[in-house]
Amino acid sequence: MRPEPINSVIEIRRSFRYRKFLSHNHKFIYLYPVHDPVVVVDQRTYHVSFIKIAIVKPLLTGLHRNSTSSLFNSSPDTYWGQFDEISKYNVHLNVFERLWAAWYAYMQNDVLATGIMSFLMHEFVYFGRSLPWMLIDRIPYFNRYKIQNQKVPTAQEQWNCAKLVLLSHFTVELPQIWLFHPMAVYAGLATGVPFPSLLTMAYQIAVFFVLEDTWHYWSHRALHWGPFYKNIHKIHHQYSAPFGMAAEYASPIEVMILGLGTVGAPILWCAITGDLHILTMYLWIVCRLFQAIDAHSGYEFPWSLHHFLPFWAGAEHHDVHHERFIGNYSSSFRWWDYVLDTESGPEAARKRRERKLEKEGNKVQ
Ligand SMILES: [Zn+2]
Ligand SMILES: [Zn+2]
Repeated sequence: MRPEPINSVIEIRRSFRYRKFLSHNHKFIYLYPVHDPVVVVDQRTYHVSFIKIAIVKPLLTGLHRNSTSSLFNSSPDTYWGQFDEISKYNVHLNVFERLWAAWYAYMQNDVLATGIMSFLMHEFVYFGRSLPWMLIDRIPYFNRYKIQNQKVPTAQEQWNCAKLVLLSHFTVELPQIWLFHPMAVYAGLATGVPFPSLLTMAYQIAVFFVLEDTWHYWSHRALHWGPFYKNIHKIHHQYSAPFGMAAEYASPIEVMILGLGTVGAPILWCAITGDLHILTMYLWIVCRLFQAIDAHSGYEFPWSLHHFLPFWAGAEHHDVHHERFIGNYSSSFRWWDYVLDTESGPEAARKRRERKLEKEGNKVQ
């Protein structure tokens, strides 16, 4: 039988040693006892597994720091030591949550912890996802799936691309990634454990995809306007037959403009709903990186996603944009280009011609 929860604790013994965790919605603090017994109510001692304290007034940003790093006072020095400590007292947390909490506890500096994690994640996913495409380029079997099959990038082209991408990652993106934690805290993103549920993360990421795609459509279309194109966007169009790593081959100004959609969509969401965990943001950025790199891959397979989800853009959509420099401005979906009649390629041109003839036919009648 489960005991009734004690809602008002009369006395917490002074010797009570505990570990504090902030719930991901920032509404509760959980205290997990280190030593029993811990709570005395009506002069009887109770052994409790945890105490949940509701936060009545929102606390200032200091709390975010308290939620993780500075609370593990008696913690050992190594990362795995932290992990063991946290595992001992937090059986309710899954292994990912423990790894996460141990990282913040080990770093003792949330800005640095988030900054390093974000930067490494970005590099790892970006080059990790580009690598299979580089290998596929070297395997003749896959050439039949290449959209512009006469144009396989040379090793030299890929190396030149990698150099510029790395340069911009270290000069333009690194300082921005460093600002990420203060910005996330300011916007009210949760950073503690436990994590939100998979369902919550999935629907929030779906919303970000829609918002980002909209931002991308309009700003990318604007970047094709003469002066903007010449001064900013031209660099990205250097490769008329793109390849995975070319996704972020762009002017720093463009990285900032288009990146605003990726970072701004979750921030806007959080400002409105007040419900977002930084992990959801990470998973979203991973999904978005996969989308961008795959869209530049130059390959169209019979099993490509847009065959099953007709509104998904995929590589075929963006490859035509690189080949023809006009139309197909959106990133993830096809609806903006469809509705605003900016679809690119021979198929779209044929339909446009047919529509025009039909209109003229109607006029004659
Ligand atoms: Zn473009
Ligand atoms: Zn592109």
